[in-house]
Amino acid sequence: MPTSRPDRAFAVFGGTFDPIHNAHLACAQYVLSHCAVREVQLMPCHLPAHRASPGVSAEHRAAMVQIAIQDMPGLQLQPLELNKHSPSYTVDSLRLLREQYPRGGLLFVMGMDSLAYFKQWHQWQSILQLAHLVVCQRPGSSATQGDCPALLEQFGTNSLQDLHLLDAGKIMLLDNPPQELSATRIRTLLEKNQPDNELNQLLPAEVLQYIKTQRLYSGI
Ligand code: ATP
Repeated sequence: MPTSRPDRAFAVFGGTFDPIHNAHLACAQYVLSHCAVREVQLMPCHLPAHRASPGVSAEHRAAMVQIAIQDMPGLQLQPLELNKHSPSYTVDSLRLLREQYPRGGLLFVMGMDSLAYFKQWHQWQSILQLAHLVVCQRPGSSATQGDCPALLEQFGTNSLQDLHLLDAGKIMLLDNPPQELSATRIRTLLEKNQPDNELNQLLPAEVLQYIKTQRLYSGI
């Protein structure tokens, strides 16, 4: 551990998870193994503030997250946003988390595509007063796009120590192996009733089983 602070940092990975897939899980595992956090909490939004409404309910998306991480120590479901009936603003969730954990590094995980338009997020400056951002590589997105250069110039760090010695305010890019995968692609394959062997490369078999049993995304 790079810090002697008593409150060990933890990470929150927000997303629609519609459905959760292998790249989400790989990012969460990468943060767990490379950022010295005690746990990574996956936080499905109720209604996402930044995109069209998801295809299936928050309950189903949370159930799929829970199934995906059941054998992954260090990954947890964070249910904070599930019972909301309004758009999920990350800043509000981070404020609630800060009430629970007033001290210690709080890392908010996102993909590079999300950092590129981060300045459009509701109260983005307040987000950086509450948490650090750790940003996963994603094919098709680079640190030269959108808001990334200006944000990295002002808040960027390469030092893991910063994420632990400071409570918030830094942005660190990770060196995770990029994976070309999106929930959109999975939904498209499911809508077209593609064979399971292709889908099984993209998300955990147990999640695929849940999708089939619950008849999600298929338009049946
Ligand atoms: P959709 O295709 O429905 O937009 P998605 O696959 O992008 O979904 P989300 O749940 O919207 O998944 O994403 C949650 C977070 O995970 C975002 O910060 C996003 O940037 C990140 N993320 C999603 N897929 C990847 C990936 N392949 N590599 C890195 N980060 C990813």
